[in-house]
Formats: sequence, C-alpha cells, structure tokens
Amino acid sequence: TFRALVLDQQDKSISASFKTLSMDDLPDGDVLVRVNWSTLNYKDGMILNGLGRLVRTYPHVPGVDFSGQVVSSNDDRYKPADEVILTGWRVGEAHWGGYGQMARVKADWLVPLPDGLDGAQAMAIGTAGFTSMLAVMALEEQGVSPDQDGEVLVTGAAGGVGSVAVSILAALGYRVAASTGREETHAYLRDLGATTIIDRNELTDTSRPLLTERWVGAIDSVGSTTLAHVLSEMKYHGVVSACGLAGGPDLPATVIPFLLRGVKLIGIDSVMCPYETRLRAWERLARELPKDHLSAATTKVSLSDILPWGEKILKGQVKGRLLVDVQDC
Ligand code: NAP
Repeated sequence: TFRALVLDQQDKSISASFKTLSMDDLPDGDVLVRVNWSTLNYKDGMILNGLGRLVRTYPHVPGVDFSGQVVSSNDDRYKPADEVILTGWRVGEAHWGGYGQMARVKADWLVPLPDGLDGAQAMAIGTAGFTSMLAVMALEEQGVSPDQDGEVLVTGAAGGVGSVAVSILAALGYRVAASTGREETHAYLRDLGATTIIDRNELTDTSRPLLTERWVGAIDSVGSTTLAHVLSEMKYHGVVSACGLAGGPDLPATVIPFLLRGVKLIGIDSVMCPYETRLRAWERLARELPKDHLSAATTKVSLSDILPWGEKILKGQVKGRLLVDVQDC
C-alpha cells in the first residue's frame, strides 16, 4: 500500500483527503515509479481547487510532475532503480499524478534524470522551471542573445516560472529586468541575478499600441494587460515568450507592434513538448541553472501540508518554487 492525496467530487464541489491505496488502484501503464518528489505549480493550485475543468474524472490523484525511482517496467528503456522525471502529458489532470507515493505511467512520458541533478533538484525545477528553460530556448532560437544592447524582461518574476527564468538568463549573461508586485521579493530577485526591478503596476497601461522601446526579449507568465503592455514596449525585432496566464487569459493588444517593429510573440507549451526538446531542456537545466540560486528559490513542504499552499499559489503568494516531499505523508 501507499499514501496519496485523493480528490473526490460530490455534486459540483471538490474534496481532498489523504488515503491509503493499493497497487491495484493505480491506472494502467508500462512503468511503476516510487514517487519521491513532486511540486506545486499554478496548475496544481487550479486542480486542487477544482478550477478550469482540467480534471474530468474522479476520484483523482493530482500532481502535474514528479521525480522518483523505477520499481518495475514493461518497457526496454527503463529498468528498476532508474531515476526518472515526469512533467506534462496531462499527468495530474487526465491521468493520476505525483501526489501519490506510487505512480503507474507510460514510458513515453518519462525522461531519465540528467547527470548533474538529483531527484529533489529536478522537482525544485519542476514543470515551472522546465517551462522557463523552454522560454529561454525560444528567445535564443529567434535570435535574442546576451550581446544585444538591452535587457530581457521577466514578468511574474517572483513566481516559479519567473524565478527560474531570472536565474537562467542571468547565468547566461543577459541583463535581466524582473517585474513583480511584491516589494518584499526585491532583494531575492537581485540575488537571483536581476539587474533592474520593475513594479508590475508599471506594466498595465494598454492605451497606446507603441511605447518607448525597452526590451530585447521578454518571458511572460502573466498574460492579459501585462503581455499587451510588454508587446508595446519591445525593441525592434524583440521576442516575447508567452508562458502563462497568472493575470488572466485575455490579450487586449493591437497588431501594431508586430507590423511596425517586427516583434515576435512565441507560445510556450511544456505539456506536449516533444521528447528530444525535453532532453535538451533538462540537460541545459542541469548545467546552466546555478544550484545556489535554485535552492534560494525553493521551499520544501511535506505532501500532508500541500492543501493551504494550493490556495496561496492562486493568489500569487508563493515565492519561487515549492518542492513537495511525497514520502512525508
Ligand atoms: P506562480 O508561482 O504563482 O507565479 C505567477 C506569478 O505571477 C506570481 O508569483 C506573481 O508574481 C504574478 N501574478 C500573479 N497574479 C498576478 C496578477 N493578477 N497580475 C500580475 N501578476 C500576477 O505560478 P507558476 O507556477 O510560476 O506559473 C506561472 C504561469 O505560467 C501560470 O499561468 C501557469 O499556468 C503558467 N505555466 C505555463 C506552462 C506552459 O506550459 N505554458 C507551464 C508552467 C506554468 P509577482 O508576485 O512577482 O508579481
């Protein structure tokens, strides 16, 4: 048997409880994994609170990512004791996820733990940090480089995606402007490598389609008026990686920045990201994300304490990344 957080639905409301389950309760799959670490992402907050119609079938074990050790495998790529990571593929939404001490999943969804990371560090990075690396790679593919004259802006900087993005960009030699709504995180963001701090209230005016050119690149986890404003401040041929919707899913913008400044808006999806790209992103995270910055951005909690954090992340009250000790439950 093993312990898991189980969501149930009664009428329209969602309830969460910790239960003891047996292996027979697990869904079908090729690989059985002992889950050691998971994390809390914004999407986990939505799922724990029954938002966004992300989960359609209950009872459900949430947790959109995990790391752990293979217990048994029907697939040649994995054998017992292999260390693995899982992010995306709608695990924790359409399939049972990482908030259980055992998980049975498809081999295709796993990646081997890269050299240079342990399982806890991999989940301190988690889906959010993996997405940050995809966003950085997208900027690079579109020609943004540290040699350019100008800063890269990160919005929602004190959140999970934002914190890891600031750290990676600074480590790669970019000048990084970090936008946050929380004054108490300014010193933290400077420690991660931000050179400029911007109050997020300065990034909401959408009354003009073009503003003074400021950013060579941007990584946005906020969306809505913030993303619209950022588009209007991009330098000529500037590139924006759109990762998130913490401020809302709308985009009240005009096409003028695309037409007059050749601005590029690139969508970032971590969920269905192809295997080869995943491997590249994880290898780069293992090499290029400074470990001291990662630990500064990480708070560890036990699985039994996860529920109040699920409410906090929806209110933008989680700083950096939340690492979940799944065996502590
Ligand atoms: P998070 O830790 O809560 O970070 C979001 C940050 O956005 C907050 O810390 C806050 O930063 C800022 N924020 C929150 N509410 C805001 C508002 N109303 N207006 C302006 N800023 C606001 O969440 P996360 O896990 O990093 O995820 C961030 C976003 O990326 C989410 O929308 C998530 O769904 C998305 N995401 C997408 C992918 C993908 O594959 N595309 C993968 C992972 C995450 P400050 O306190 O610094 O202002």
